[in-house]
Amino acid sequence: MRTIIEPFRIKMTEPINLISKEERIEKLKKAHNNVFFLDAEDCAIDLLTDSGTGAMSAQQWAALMLGDESYAGSKSWKKFESTVRNITNFKHIFPTHQGRAAEGLLAMTRIKDGDVVPNNSHFDTTRANLEFSGAKAINLLCEDGLNTESDAPFKGNMDIKKLEQCIAKYGADKIPFGMITITNNTGGGQPVSMENIRATKEMLSAHKIPLVIDACRFAENSYFISEREEGYKGKPLIEIAQEIFSYADAATMSLKKDGLVNIGGFFVCNNNDWAEDFKNMLILREGFPTYGGLAGRDLEAISVGLMEALDLDYQKYRNATMRYLNKKLDESGVPVIKPNGGHAVFLDAKKFMKHIPSLEYPGISLINALYIEGAIRAVEIGSVMFGSFDKDGNEIASDLELVRLAFPRRVYTQSHFDYLAEVIIEVWKKRGQYKGLIITKQAKVLRHFSCHFKSK
Ligand SMILES: *Cc1c(COP(=O)(O)O)cnc(C)c1O
Repeated sequence: MRTIIEPFRIKMTEPINLISKEERIEKLKKAHNNVFFLDAEDCAIDLLTDSGTGAMSAQQWAALMLGDESYAGSKSWKKFESTVRNITNFKHIFPTHQGRAAEGLLAMTRIKDGDVVPNNSHFDTTRANLEFSGAKAINLLCEDGLNTESDAPFKGNMDIKKLEQCIAKYGADKIPFGMITITNNTGGGQPVSMENIRATKEMLSAHKIPLVIDACRFAENSYFISEREEGYKGKPLIEIAQEIFSYADAATMSLKKDGLVNIGGFFVCNNNDWAEDFKNMLILREGFPTYGGLAGRDLEAISVGLMEALDLDYQKYRNATMRYLNKKLDESGVPVIKPNGGHAVFLDAKKFMKHIPSLEYPGISLINALYIEGAIRAVEIGSVMFGSFDKDGNEIASDLELVRLAFPRRVYTQSHFDYLAEVIIEVWKKRGQYKGLIITKQAKVLRHFSCHFKSK
């Protein structure tokens, strides 16, 4: 088979500044050993997140000029609404400035103290928003998803049996809605099958519980379904996406992912009461419902980006880049999550840094090594990000200790990927010399963004 090429040419460039190893050691020390405090210009390859970091197309930049900045009922809103409706077919559509704004308003309007919200795996902002409103956020990931060596095709699936048990345990009246996250960001960026989305919907429906999809990477998930699920081969991605949304009662989305833009989000639903409550809070917090905290030009760029994300050649290229790096690392013995996720390559830090116990944060140790050795910035998805404590205040280790290399969309080229592989393999070869860490300062919620670390 021929090499899958980038289905675009580059018309505008941004310089990369590679500072020396000595400078990097100094910078990381000043950043309290937390890469979130580094200056972006000191990170040659910045894989902190795929969120809002992508490159827009010429068509999107051109669309910005058409932005109608009218406060209410602008032309740009009409375009946004019709694009989102075409893909999701929901009755009520609300723009928000980010995904978490949609989550926050949903939680504020639908959650009571003591409620329970099951999900395959809650993303950190989703969990934080639900818990802040008094709910218990429960993860019900399938067994395959917990096994970092399984190469099952849909490791993001919900465990339907566990969902049934969860409903029986807490009672349907305590569950205002169930969620499913596609692709499963915190569970390795692994996809969810159409069959599983359907089964989740059926299980919830049997108890009259609505289903809310966390749709951040719906286009990547649609691509995986077209590649891996019986009956979907050759089906246009937009039709797969439409079927996915047909099973949901509502959805939240961060357009910074598969919207292919740098800012934006939405909430969509069918229920009139949900929409009314959401709208009133939206006006209070984000803005009038036809702009929801975004500029008219953002709405234009989103309308173009959402459709570009559903382009098959784009998804083929995007997935090929992850596969390329995953394979290179795997062949060198580096413990990676297999198969590759949709937006990231995940290193298994527990296996990578075997000599470091979970509560000495092997993921952070690995991330800091990648920065020192190669000016690469990655993120931990493990004990630090989840920051769980029991009733007595003892810290609980996460099941998985992952390091995520998240890829901005349409930004890095193949030589960047080759460089990454070289640095990671070098760190792997001398892994024994890296130490665990302790936390010296932390916040109560979302501590990973701001905590300070000290080397053991
Ligand atoms: C990014 C993300 C969110 C939150 O979106 P923001 O735009 O960052 O607020 C929620 N869920 C998932 C799965 C995400 O990846």
